[in-house]
Amino acid sequence: MTILNTSFDTPYQTAPFSKIKNEDFLPAFLHAIEEAKAEIDAISNNPEAPTFENTIEALDFSGEQLDRISSIFFNLNSAETNDEIQKIAQDVSPLLSEFSNDITLNEMLFKRVKTVYNSKDSLELTTEQHTLLDKKYKGFSRNGANLPEDKKTRLREIDKNLSQLKLKFGENVLAETNAFEMHLTKERDLEGLPEGAKEAAQQLAEAKQKKGWLITLDYPSYIPFMTYASNRKLRKKLAIAAGAKAFKGNENDNQDNVLQIAKLRHERANLLGYQTHAHFVLEERMAKTPKTVEHFLNELLEKAKPAAEREFKNLEAFAKELDGIDHLEKWDGSYYSEKLKQKLFSLDDEQLKPYFKLENVINGVFTIAERLYDLKFEEIDTIDKYHDDVLTYKVTDLKGNLVSIFYADFFPRPGKRNGAWMTVYKSQYIKNGENSRPHISNVCNFTKPTKSKPSLLTFNEVTTLFHEFGHALHGILANTTYPSLSGTNVFWDFVELPSQVFENWCYEKEALELFATHYETGEVIPMDLIEKIKASATFHEGMQTLRQISFGLLDMSWHGQYPNSITNVKAHESKVFENTKLYPDVVENCMSTAFSHIFQGGYSSGYYSYKWAEVLDADAFEYFLEEGIFNKDVAKKFKDNILSQGGIEDPMTLYKRFRGKEPQPEALLRRAGLIAN
Ligand SMILES: [Zn+2]
Repeated sequence: MTILNTSFDTPYQTAPFSKIKNEDFLPAFLHAIEEAKAEIDAISNNPEAPTFENTIEALDFSGEQLDRISSIFFNLNSAETNDEIQKIAQDVSPLLSEFSNDITLNEMLFKRVKTVYNSKDSLELTTEQHTLLDKKYKGFSRNGANLPEDKKTRLREIDKNLSQLKLKFGENVLAETNAFEMHLTKERDLEGLPEGAKEAAQQLAEAKQKKGWLITLDYPSYIPFMTYASNRKLRKKLAIAAGAKAFKGNENDNQDNVLQIAKLRHERANLLGYQTHAHFVLEERMAKTPKTVEHFLNELLEKAKPAAEREFKNLEAFAKELDGIDHLEKWDGSYYSEKLKQKLFSLDDEQLKPYFKLENVINGVFTIAERLYDLKFEEIDTIDKYHDDVLTYKVTDLKGNLVSIFYADFFPRPGKRNGAWMTVYKSQYIKNGENSRPHISNVCNFTKPTKSKPSLLTFNEVTTLFHEFGHALHGILANTTYPSLSGTNVFWDFVELPSQVFENWCYEKEALELFATHYETGEVIPMDLIEKIKASATFHEGMQTLRQISFGLLDMSWHGQYPNSITNVKAHESKVFENTKLYPDVVENCMSTAFSHIFQGGYSSGYYSYKWAEVLDADAFEYFLEEGIFNKDVAKKFKDNILSQGGIEDPMTLYKRFRGKEPQPEALLRRAGLIAN
């Protein structure tokens, strides 16, 4: 027993960070896993007939201690890690997956869940309870619990093969990324690159005891070179190398892996009774069916294509005028786009940063949330934190009732991973009539203040803060009974709605006036700067949209139809891209063999969700624009139907209840300037 295994005797039962020692974690996990196992056994072996309460509800409330310890531990592993914590993570992760596999394979437990599921129509359940029952049942059935033994065995085989193939896919992409380097020895070959990028290239060379500069296929090296380097031949060399990853017929080639992964996923879906892998995946998405996704992508394609073609023509004319280029190739796109963008907007970060002092932006975010959702944020110093940089807040409603605890951890340091995220230290749920409020955290990597200068954010960092705070609101305002349906536990093509919609306030005068004031003079950000920000935010949106759609269609083509007839990866891909391509094809290149999102990561049949989420957020925000961005009625509808509801109902139902109708792509197209207002 460690302090982690006790119920915390702290204000608001917050995590007692200062009292937790690294060596506590492993024994704490072991103890909590034993306890969770005992809870599961008690449910499985209950002599009473299975009911919703003694099986489904009991299952959802089981393992509370384990969840709490896992949250604390894995959040620290992201935000404040060290060798010791990383070692514990390696030891603990297999124990946790073994524990969750044991549940999924527990036949006695499934029998009870199934009994309740089969009698669901005769039970008097609330909507939320129906959703929970469905979710728990699918947690088993989608892993083969209903299959006869021989098919179960085949499913395990497929799962094992798939995890090896995915691993191999990723290893090949990594090996190919690492195998390439472009060694430059003449400074004029780096012409156009910003100083920082040059320095980085020089450091890369130094690290390998080479003279001059090294450019690699890692994004921090690759992207600046493609964006700024004026040497077209070198851009071409680099672009072709990047596009040929795992497509060269060498030992790192992924063509066969792609075909095998697609086939095995299809077979797995068929075994479980689904037509295709996409049908299997989309069952648990807002979009529901491949037909909806394909219709969505094609409708967007039809509407965005004219704008994309127009932008492409303009860009080509610009390149012709500037450098006498007749036909744009893939390696010209980023370079001339950047040049044109500079010419049109001449907007740089340094111009904007003085208006975005971190403290002002935080206050802005809180003020907007207060005006919309009747919340109050009060900084408190009575609770423990895991690092001095962390700020802690108590969030209350207008009556002073506790709504949430909010942690904000803004600055980079060794031990924190890159990026920005929202996370949860304690979920919200209602048990025995008591609404147990959540502990939510935002973690970012913004520029730290110095002695002479406060932390001034780039506009990109401002939208990041708003984005993550939008996710935080989804957690803070959660108001559901069951923890597994609370807050951001929603279908993943729905989870970016609260975050993305909140970003919209960053572009509105009425909102900016609340916080975008010059840190020295107090002057409010000038309107023409705001207009420029808006215009540059949607620069080349048509081409970007087309690109995203093409990736979404490629994903669906691998997963939404019978894949066994596909024998040639490149030929298949070319056919799919036919309708979306702007640049001439490069024969040495292939996208699928390095499309890690869908062949290694979790995005298979899910790439469309990037655009899907944008359509949702633009459509939702248009409602605010129609009624006023601080309109209380619209805000209340958003809070009551979306932010507080977690995953208790189908997202489309929730959305329609908020908006009064299904989302339409027009709002996004209007916002992006692709169609007229
Ligand atoms: Zn997000």
